[in-house]
Amino acid sequence: MYQNKGPGGQSAISIIGAGIAGSWHALLFAEGGHAVTVHERGDASMTQSTSHWAGGMLAPWCEAESSEPVISRLGIRSLDLWRQHFPQVPFKGSLVVAHARDRADFERFARLTTNHRRLDARALRELEPALDGRFREGLFYPDEGHVEPRRVLPELHAAIARAGGKIEFGSDAEADDLDGIVIDCRGFFARDTQTELRGVKGEMIIIETSEVELTRPVRLMHPRFPLYVIPRGDGRFMLGATSIESEDTGVSVRSALELLGAAYAVHPAFGEARILEFGSGLRPAFPDNLPRISIDQERITVNGLYRHGFLLSPALAELTFGCVARGVIDNEVMRCA
Ligand SMILES: Cc1cc2nc3c(=O)[nH]c(=O)nc-3n(C[C@H](O)[C@H](O)[C@H](O)COP(=O)(O)OP(=O)(O)OC[C@H]3O[C@@H](n4cnc5c(N)ncnc54)[C@H](O)[C@@H]3O)c2cc1C
Repeated sequence: MYQNKGPGGQSAISIIGAGIAGSWHALLFAEGGHAVTVHERGDASMTQSTSHWAGGMLAPWCEAESSEPVISRLGIRSLDLWRQHFPQVPFKGSLVVAHARDRADFERFARLTTNHRRLDARALRELEPALDGRFREGLFYPDEGHVEPRRVLPELHAAIARAGGKIEFGSDAEADDLDGIVIDCRGFFARDTQTELRGVKGEMIIIETSEVELTRPVRLMHPRFPLYVIPRGDGRFMLGATSIESEDTGVSVRSALELLGAAYAVHPAFGEARILEFGSGLRPAFPDNLPRISIDQERITVNGLYRHGFLLSPALAELTFGCVARGVIDNEVMRCA
């Protein structure tokens, strides 16, 4: 299917976009012996990417509540790849809690998801002492993990360089101007060629307090979207995330109230926390909210990662690699022209 072009016999690969999708692709192809160049039009801070704003939860079992089985399949495979490549990634599980009035939603969440343990108030306290007395019960998903996007993206970029790949920041690339195999990982910005893509706004807030300590992400049942508090270390917490069918990138008063209210509901001491940042990103989504790898000879696009970019990118990169190296097609996510 693909011609050999690189010095070791492997094709040279150009990747457009150094967000989470492009970075995992670059890493696996560079490790596979390909000459890899990543073109990223922003700078190394990556503030223009959706990945910069993400929660970074690696939660395939929790996500099963509202997504197709393919998300769990790829997500569980991704956990192995995160562990292999970044052994420092914390796998301390996730917690789901609810107030008494949201009991029915909590039971529904428990029914629709697997690989969790029910915790009573005492077990909850043992796991997260700060939640003592706050909730009567919780669901614990012990095998889930989380990464801090703003730390892990530079770590991925460093790993790409160690594997022999190059990242050119400030390089606004067009697939047609590049030779060899091109993997387009432009996320929401690929709408010029992927007209079905839409942006789903996710708003987040970062707060700081030394009054609350959490070890793992805590999700609070909410009628409109899953709201969560993720510990970031050094007394910082990310509150996320709304999910709104809008391509505007502001943060509304209503969303801010909901995010801050969720934190306050998890622990009233968050009421005294300092607000460090409000922000939002546009999740790139196809109409079915599923990821897609489209292959047209030497032009490959990987997109539609929606709310699962950190969860799915390792497995998607592995699939793309398997297709280029061995011609293996995954019928659930690949479309061949
Ligand atoms: C608030 C929020 C919370 C989220 N939480 C989670 C979570 O907990 N877990 C999870 O798995 N996912 C989460 N997501 C989803 C996740 O962030 C996205 O799925 C993911 O970031 C999409 O990554 P991407 O690499 O496709 O796109 P991006 O991260 O947007 O990267 C695309 C890159 O391409 C570059 N680019 C564009 N055009 C060009 C060009 N012509 N030349 C060169 N470079 C170009 C851009 O500058 C950008 O850096 C969340 C998203 C949001 C907004």
